Amino acid sequence: MNRSATAAAGARLTRARALDLYRHAPTAELARMADAVRRRKHPDGIVTYIIDRNVNYTNVCVARCKFCAFYRPVGSSEGYTLGFEEIARKIEETIALGGGQLLLQGGHNPDIPIEWYEDLFRRVKERFPAFRLHALSPPEVVHISRLSQLPVPAVIDRLIAAGLDSIPGGGAEILVDRVRKLLNCYNKATADEWLGVMRAAHRAGLRTTATMMYGTVETMEERLEHLFRLRDLQDETGGFTAFITWSYQPQHTELGGTEATGVEYLRTLAIARLVLDNFDNLQASWVTQGGKVGQLSLAYGANDMGSVMIEENVVRAAGAEYCMDEFEVVRNIEAAGFIAKRRNMHYEILGDPVVRERDVPRMLELAVARPDGRGGEAEDLRGYEARSAAGRRARAGADASS
Ligand code: SF4
Repeated sequence: MNRSATAAAGARLTRARALDLYRHAPTAELARMADAVRRRKHPDGIVTYIIDRNVNYTNVCVARCKFCAFYRPVGSSEGYTLGFEEIARKIEETIALGGGQLLLQGGHNPDIPIEWYEDLFRRVKERFPAFRLHALSPPEVVHISRLSQLPVPAVIDRLIAAGLDSIPGGGAEILVDRVRKLLNCYNKATADEWLGVMRAAHRAGLRTTATMMYGTVETMEERLEHLFRLRDLQDETGGFTAFITWSYQPQHTELGGTEATGVEYLRTLAIARLVLDNFDNLQASWVTQGGKVGQLSLAYGANDMGSVMIEENVVRAAGAEYCMDEFEVVRNIEAAGFIAKRRNMHYEILGDPVVRERDVPRMLELAVARPDGRGGEAEDLRGYEARSAAGRRARAGADASS
């Protein structure tokens, strides 16, 4: 059987065959093979998307990953932590645009204890009962586990009890410890720790996504190692809803370097579609690749345009500033010959585009964490224990002056 026939028949790719294809198959052939898998899994011609908001509740982080342009060290005047009311306002704006979920992620801030997350989740659910919290990537869960000295499953149970609905797959980068050490992200979570959080989340009944950021210091073999480790865990738990890959964005980072090309992105996406035969959904990462490559992704295995994404702070800090509102997302899906449908985090279809049902204001640029770019933590953090010396001083000073 030739390569294309093997994929079309649904046979499982071996590591050696995947590497051979990734290295040597013509790009058009990879597209044909990945598209055959997409058509087999999604024969209805539907391409989905979600309306949500990517809120980064804090940029203060002790992890200091070399590829990150978003974080600020503890004590920085540019460091911020949002308050409950700021987050509630963002939720109200998201609901007004037809959204029903926050993707809530942030830095590893030593001055935010687990109780703050629990209180935040409870308040959100009290005020917006139907709103979903897709929150806290595995390294953040590891960070909270270390801060609170609770095992990961106990942290997950407490967060679920407070209102956590699902976990985003961020912080995976490449799930190979050699790479993680070079990128200074081994300490925030090893490959096994990242996978361990996802295993615990799946066992607790949560669905999660999986990601891969490529294009830093890893080899092709290590990208494939990452994909095969995800495939193995999916065989074990079946808890991943989707996979998303994007290229490293180098601007303003300690690591520097250049960004992978569009063709490399499309080849990587297609290989992921072929290896991850037990994942139902692959997203197009238009936020890092732009709308045009995002649209092309639909011919390379993607069946989902990701999020309309009302706000974004992390990849923007590293130089990627693409924006598409729902009108644009739908236009790109339909111009590629697909039917556009809104979905939720579980990939259940919610309906037709909101822009077809009612007037929604056009959104021509993405919102930011704080409209005026201010640093500083919100007042409601004062009631929580700070662990860093700078955090304790700041909270004591705020109390003295109030
Ligand atoms: S990627 Fe996340 S964990 Fe790493 S430095 Fe940036 S904010 Fe911190």
